[in-house]
Amino acid sequence: MKIERITAGILLCTLLGTSAFSQQKTLKSKKQAELQIPRLHLQSVPSLEKSGQALDTIDTSNPAVKIILYADNTWKYWRTPEDILSSPVFREYWNTGVPNPYQVALSELPDKINIWVVDTLSNYRCPNRTKVYSKFGIRHRRRHQGVDLPLHTGDPVYAAFSGKVRLSKYMRGYGNVIIVRHENGLETFYAHLSKRLADSGDWVDAGQIIGLGGSTGRSSGAHLHFETRYRGYAFDPQWLIDFETGTLRHRMFVLQKKHLGENSKYVPESDDEEVEIYDGDTRDYAVADSIAAVRKAEQEKAEREAAQAQYHKIKSGDTLSGLAKKYHTSISAICKLNPGMTAKSTLRIGKEIRVR
Ligand SMILES: [Zn+2]
Repeated sequence: MKIERITAGILLCTLLGTSAFSQQKTLKSKKQAELQIPRLHLQSVPSLEKSGQALDTIDTSNPAVKIILYADNTWKYWRTPEDILSSPVFREYWNTGVPNPYQVALSELPDKINIWVVDTLSNYRCPNRTKVYSKFGIRHRRRHQGVDLPLHTGDPVYAAFSGKVRLSKYMRGYGNVIIVRHENGLETFYAHLSKRLADSGDWVDAGQIIGLGGSTGRSSGAHLHFETRYRGYAFDPQWLIDFETGTLRHRMFVLQKKHLGENSKYVPESDDEEVEIYDGDTRDYAVADSIAAVRKAEQEKAEREAAQAQYHKIKSGDTLSGLAKKYHTSISAICKLNPGMTAKSTLRIGKEIRVR
């Protein structure tokens, strides 16, 4: 069974080639979708903890996707915000003043919806890693639409996923609150902040510090009140995140209507949940997985390219024409490899530039 899967994966990669973004349509043929391939959607994602210094950017075959190389030889994908922001998600029901601009009836929502929380092109960071102090659900006969995560006033609060800030203001209950809308339609709420560091309309990257923890609004003691909502309906954020370890439970989240109830608490996964997820719409997952497989091929290509890259540290007396000669390349080729560089650029001593 396992061998079959691997073979199918290789076959799929062969079928698709490496420049695959343009070929997503062919992925949807039934035959390909029925192939058994690794189930990426069930993988968990550790919280992104590092924010190293970017050294270089490499283009991929998709102009909206770049690869950022870091000084410690690691790299990650970076999708341009312009590409993501073109989605209608960031125009429809857009309101910078109220927490819930949707006002849709629960009956209008599907019973089950598959949401890619993090794919191979995006990142995740736990907003505040700690034990959950107060859970989602009815509390003292009042609705509690998120989880309370203790912190010290002034501690950083991170955007869990990339997105666009929809609301950033002071509100009576929430205190200083920031609401970020994400491409997949989810919204995350960060409340009781002592300071807001992002305004409505701002783009934020996953892991970016968007505010400092505090105790503003209806709050007793410093904590982050964190909510996750879909179309205005809150669900227990613990379905997505294990706050104690900081881990995102699955790359893909199957949001069920029953999760949207005001007292619907997270229950640790039962053994049959995986089966249930897989028995859902197998085709969707297979397509999503094959896209992921294709992206992996892109990734490997980028890694190979990164491995071949050659850098030069500028010394006194270096000139672009001298470097072009030394590395058997041309001035224009060097400029192409270094964003912003032209033939007339001044070479700063000590700066590393890419020469091949
Ligand atoms: Zn709370």
